Amino acid sequence: MRIAIPKETHPGENRIPITPAHAKKLCAMGADLVVEAGMGAGSGFTDAEYAEVGATISHDRGELFRSADLLLRLRKPQLEEISQMKRGAIHISYLDPFNEHALVNAFKDAGVTAISMEMIPRTTRSQKMDALSSQANLAGYVMVIQAATYLPRIFPMMMTPAGTLKPANVFVIGAGVAGLQAIATAKRLGGKVTAFDTRPVVAEQVRSVGAKFLEIDLGETGETAGGYAKELTPEQVEKQRQAQKDVIAKSDVVITTAQVFGRKPPVLITRDMIEGMAPGSVIVDMAAETGGNVEGSVPNEVVVISGVTVIGKGNLAGEVARDASQMYSNVRRQRDLRYLPGGRPQPGGHGQG
Ligand code: NAD
Repeated sequence: MRIAIPKETHPGENRIPITPAHAKKLCAMGADLVVEAGMGAGSGFTDAEYAEVGATISHDRGELFRSADLLLRLRKPQLEEISQMKRGAIHISYLDPFNEHALVNAFKDAGVTAISMEMIPRTTRSQKMDALSSQANLAGYVMVIQAATYLPRIFPMMMTPAGTLKPANVFVIGAGVAGLQAIATAKRLGGKVTAFDTRPVVAEQVRSVGAKFLEIDLGETGETAGGYAKELTPEQVEKQRQAQKDVIAKSDVVITTAQVFGRKPPVLITRDMIEGMAPGSVIVDMAAETGGNVEGSVPNEVVVISGVTVIGKGNLAGEVARDASQMYSNVRRQRDLRYLPGGRPQPGGHGQG
């Protein structure tokens, strides 16, 4: 089986789909692994490292697409790349299939099977293949580090002969995978952390990582069978905004990660709430690229609104590309092995737990 790994071409993308250590395992299973020259450079891996473990290095990108039985990637492909692929080939990457109808149709027309890494069930049984969680964990860490970089204060309490500094107040809205990691990171840095999530089951998880859970009675909220949050009514969103207003005003850092699967994220911080924060405070809006939890946040930019720094950077996991690649390579290896002759098929499963 010929497995091809083309170089990522999205501007600023330094993550890669497979590390030399995992390439070695595929080669050892008998795969004919072809890597585009320079593929690993963004994450600090050289062509020589891939050649050493048995991969072939190719300078002909078109040939990679034409000859591959299995293509392993991180980002979704270009339309014109799909038309080059062999009928019957398999393409594995993030795909954003709910929005990328043209890509899905192109795969269908080309007779190529496309596997979307986002669609792996978010269950315990398949968590070793959960690419979204692997990257969201890192994004949670990166958001806190970015906030710390822009905040003109330190996170921990510090008692010195020159005076005592109070710990920074951090408020995390949305405590899924990224939010919980943001809470844990902010705690490790010494911040005083409060968090809120609409899924009631999250309160205990928030407390278990040492943060305070903000109690807001929004009435019926709950979660879907897949474990995702249900969309709030406009009245519930307004109630949540009002209930969070005071905490936001007293926070040095606010991190928003609130998402509703398949829907636009709710706007939870309005301009007047930003104006209520002290100048120099920092907001990190993880949802900026998909519509934003914060009014005025700009995707992939850092803007200042009424003296408050609002960070809307995307591809947060890409800021720690080497570790992000290591994790993505690891989760995707679990999946790819199933497609190799001699691979170990795992029982599927869509149920929680
Ligand atoms: P996500 O990115 O879809 O959303 C992030 C968080 O925002 C969620 O916790 C959600 O409840 C919250 N949210 C939505 N609207 C909100 C609002 N108005 N205010 C505050 N918070 C709001 O979620 P995710 O981090 O990708 O996780 C999705 C689900 O998958 C979670 O239930 C998670 O526990 C589950 N999961 C399970 C496993 C497993 O192994 N069992 C692994 C990974 C994820």
